[in-house]
Amino acid sequence: MGQAKEYSAMLKRRGFGEIDKCICPKCVKNEFAKELIKKNANMKTTCSYCGAKTNCLHMEKFLEFLTEVIRYYFVPAEGNLAYDNEEKEYIGRTYNKYDIVYRLSEALGTDFDSDLADDIKETLYDFYLCDKNPYGTSQLEFCENSWKRFAHLVKYKTRYLFYADENKCQYEKAFMSASEMLDYTASYLEKLNLFTTLNIGTIFKRARILENDVEINEEEMASPPYYQAKNNRMSAEGISAFYATFEDDVAKEEALNSQKDLTNKKLVIADFINLNESKCLDLTKILELNLPDWLDIKRAKEREVILFYRYLHKALSSPIKKSDTKNKNIEYVPTQIFAEYCKEVLKVDGIIYSSSVYNKGKCIVLFVDHDACLTPNKNDIITFENKQKLKYISYKTVDL
Ligand SMILES: [Zn+2]
Repeated sequence: MGQAKEYSAMLKRRGFGEIDKCICPKCVKNEFAKELIKKNANMKTTCSYCGAKTNCLHMEKFLEFLTEVIRYYFVPAEGNLAYDNEEKEYIGRTYNKYDIVYRLSEALGTDFDSDLADDIKETLYDFYLCDKNPYGTSQLEFCENSWKRFAHLVKYKTRYLFYADENKCQYEKAFMSASEMLDYTASYLEKLNLFTTLNIGTIFKRARILENDVEINEEEMASPPYYQAKNNRMSAEGISAFYATFEDDVAKEEALNSQKDLTNKKLVIADFINLNESKCLDLTKILELNLPDWLDIKRAKEREVILFYRYLHKALSSPIKKSDTKNKNIEYVPTQIFAEYCKEVLKVDGIIYSSSVYNKGKCIVLFVDHDACLTPNKNDIITFENKQKLKYISYKTVDL
């Protein structure tokens, strides 16, 4: 092959023609692109777009990066989309290079009519592209749909033996099976650093609204005995768990939210501490995670996972809608199963989640039952099951 031919084949492969211009970091608004230009800017020259004499990146290098982004999210329409021979058009959504440059301009934070966008339009070769999975759902939609289906399944179809769901989903790829869903939710928790360890002596605030004449002691303020354990966000009826918060105000709001009639009642907040370190899943950390930029294709998977976790956080901590009161008892089933999975499979001692009634407040459920909140009697036989895990410290009565 002659040199000229070889060169034009190379241009074709890379997807854009020649351009002899340079760009500086200030000429894009997007932080990720700015950083990318800055990191690779290897010549001190005049920026072709703003005229500044500074470290610049050659536009061909910048276009190489942009075409990588295009290739990550899009594929050629030919071979991936069906073609209607009668109408002479593809069946499904296609993008020409102007559509793509429009999307890139948005991501870069530059005007579609800017010199930069014009140069990209001119330099890119013509193409017809479509989404990577044109007739399916995105990974994020797939995950969200799978969670919705999981919630529906355990509420209305199969609650206790949903592991049998495996076979049903084997041929139908629209959803993850229930067990796959749980495994998927767990798969990135470690990587995204969503676990936290609460040191010995961490103070937990447990609030209760009690009759005025009830005497306050550790037994009254501990997790309920199993026969009084009600259906709750992270534990089913009959399973005793310790619900608390870290601040008095949050504890108060949480307690008042569940109680309508306050005549002859008092609000008591007790402090408990943990006697061992508590490994917890902290769902509130999801809200602090930095979402990788759309242009950062090396972290695109992480981006989708974080978006899914944000969705999950909302699903796990949102209040039960007033309109759902008809069958209130089953609304918590999906979160109860998730919590049980965390406890039994991930071996955590508790889950921290956002309060649904106090803005930015944090709640915690510790998987500690009634007996494990109490000081053992002298003659008690201590087993793993009834070993004391939380210790009652003090209480205060709060004005209603
Ligand atoms: Zn510039």
